[in-house]
Amino acid sequence: MKRIAVLTSGGDAQGMNAAVRAVVRGGLDQGVEVFAVYEGYQGLIDGGAYIRPMSWFDVGGILQQGGTLIGTARSTDFMTRDGRREAAYNLLLNRIEGLVVIGGDGSLTGANLFRWEWPSLVDELAAAGRIDGETASQFRHLAIVGLVGSIDNDMFGTDVTIGTDTALHRITEAIDAISSTAASHQRSFVVEVMGRDCGYLALMGALATGADWVLIPELPPQTEDWEAAMCESLRRGREHGRRDSIVVVAEGARDRDGNPISSQYVTEVLEKNLGWDTRLTILGHVQRGGAPSAFDRNLATLMGMEAVHAILAMKQEDPVPVIGMIGNRITRTPLEECLNRNEAVKIALRAQDFEQAAALRGRSFVDSFQTLRTLVRAEPHKRASEPPGLRIAVMNAGAPAPGMNTAVRAAVRLGLDAGHTMIGVRNGFTGLIENDLFELDWMAVNGWANRGGAELGTNRRIPTQSDFYAVARTLELNNIQAILLIGGWSGYQGALELYERRNQFPIFNLPILCLPATIDNDLPGSDLSVGADTALNNIVSAVDKIKQSAVAARRVFVVEVMGGKCGYLALMSALATGAERVYLHEEGVTLQDLVQDVNNLITGFSHGKRLGLMIRNEMVNPTYDTRFMTALFEEEGGDLFEVRQAILGHIQQGGSPTPFDRNFASRLAADCIDYFTRLAAGEEEAQSSVVGLLGRTYEFTPFEDVPRLLNRKDRRPLDQWWMALRPLARILAQPGPSAHPAEETLITAG
Ligand code: ADP
Repeated sequence: MKRIAVLTSGGDAQGMNAAVRAVVRGGLDQGVEVFAVYEGYQGLIDGGAYIRPMSWFDVGGILQQGGTLIGTARSTDFMTRDGRREAAYNLLLNRIEGLVVIGGDGSLTGANLFRWEWPSLVDELAAAGRIDGETASQFRHLAIVGLVGSIDNDMFGTDVTIGTDTALHRITEAIDAISSTAASHQRSFVVEVMGRDCGYLALMGALATGADWVLIPELPPQTEDWEAAMCESLRRGREHGRRDSIVVVAEGARDRDGNPISSQYVTEVLEKNLGWDTRLTILGHVQRGGAPSAFDRNLATLMGMEAVHAILAMKQEDPVPVIGMIGNRITRTPLEECLNRNEAVKIALRAQDFEQAAALRGRSFVDSFQTLRTLVRAEPHKRASEPPGLRIAVMNAGAPAPGMNTAVRAAVRLGLDAGHTMIGVRNGFTGLIENDLFELDWMAVNGWANRGGAELGTNRRIPTQSDFYAVARTLELNNIQAILLIGGWSGYQGALELYERRNQFPIFNLPILCLPATIDNDLPGSDLSVGADTALNNIVSAVDKIKQSAVAARRVFVVEVMGGKCGYLALMSALATGAERVYLHEEGVTLQDLVQDVNNLITGFSHGKRLGLMIRNEMVNPTYDTRFMTALFEEEGGDLFEVRQAILGHIQQGGSPTPFDRNFASRLAADCIDYFTRLAAGEEEAQSSVVGLLGRTYEFTPFEDVPRLLNRKDRRPLDQWWMALRPLARILAQPGPSAHPAEETLITAG
């Protein structure tokens, strides 16, 4: 295959640019020519200047831009065979053999049809004499690969679509902002979010913000008189001390008879039934706007690169694949299978078979809904007989990570609801040593969902010597039967220390679960940790601003990011910002490397480069530190460029957690509480484990297995899955196989 093309179609989604960039650069790197088709399928039909070859630099500096720069459209012409024949003709004219389509399920339905029709379209064009016989036989097949760009997250074959995470950012920002004004005036708000057939944004938006009620298409209220149930729940919430009430409504919400529930109607119900001052906010297109989140940039980049590999490897008879992400791994699934399952949801919704619709969305969707239903309650369920519960100590330990509070909130409420007693430990291990514990009730964690920092208090103290006696005494005094530790490296270390002394102190045999929460993402037993996504977004938005500040000057930035000796934040932020060089402790840096980097900068800047971006992990090398590197580049750059350093520091740890971190934290907390509940019911063996996402599944790794997963010296796991992305970052950052462009071309990092 020598030529491929990429287009974006249907509704725009943030991150589409990153996908286009990856397809273009990934393709060029593989030695194929890449064309961009402007304005979606309509551009394919109109041809001419709508189909343009792309250079390495044509897709520079677009990562951080929302929408799609190559344009998108809805094309009625493409719905007709005549239109698709024209599209085929234009592809043949440009001798394009592969097409990457980035769009929603409509666009991908069109892509699938186009693929299967292709040979007959070619025959028709040959019969009409518009193409010659040789072309017709040479281009018998068109390879197509689909990427799902859609903020709704309404497609099978992927846990998450390009744009969803950013849309959730917009939704949580808006609801957080609304909550604060609502609380001031004790107002209630109804917030309508997008999603005609898919309640994902509403559900996850509500879960992330601690909203009080949610209405979505797949899981309509079960009772006839749902209005009364909703009002009663909100009223009880107020009685228990909530100052605001927020109801999130998906635009496609309906009741169990299939009748639409409009956000306007919900507003009126609250006003009428409760007599509350209620305001309606329809978020609308704000959800499609703004800079893509770090997650969407990297998701789209990985998917785009994979699309190139998939398309080049496609055989004639292969079905069209959809590139997806399941867990945190990139996958390929036959498009037809995904479309069929999508159709099945729509049919189930039309038939009002809601159970089926929700089941088709998958277990985690239904679980999230159940979690939300519990979290929004004003108090735990009342049960005829109390279920057997444990006395569970909940603590943070290690440096603060955004999302710690969200995890505590979810654990406390889900724990109380399951019949456990939840005991808060103040200030990490210090609280256990000094017996600083207190019982947490339902409202103690009210409003914690979106709060950064760690309300329980946290620090890096690890118990030593006589501390262990003190900890044992505290556990005994308070009759603690299990510990949920939400924290980072030193928290994990402290927990392992207790475990290792269980022969000496029998009480340390109690089950301990460690939930990963650190911005560094350096913990064993989980590919991701709570807080890392927020830190990544903090870095990425800071770097976006730094890049803008350099427009007028020829400048290189050396940006230092956190991570301890773990390069996750450095590598992922380099991918998301288009940095040309990233320095990782895992790889180290030598004088030769720096000489090479200086030479690359000099070559680049003497050919018109305007901006250089180097991201370094804080502990790459103690001698060649950020100041040294900055001084070195500055000295060697002479008049060609100036160099500035930016040590981002603690802004990386701060701020409100991102929706990803909030929902990940709640999900992990729910798994931990489930385990304790099964344990209390005698359905599980008592065991201490670290909890996390490993590839495609959520898993518990027993403490016994943890030591052999660790690189203790460098305080990180031995095996770090994301290092597999390292070559990809190198490919995307290289100056490109094409020659340097003319002097005057503006080249920005990215
Ligand atoms: P999305 O891709 O975001 O779901 P649409 O459903 O509007 O957006 O689809 C975008 C475009 O894809 C349509 O304007 C049309 O050109 C094409 N398309 C959608 N469905 C089909 C179909 N069944 N057959 C052919 N083309 C289609």
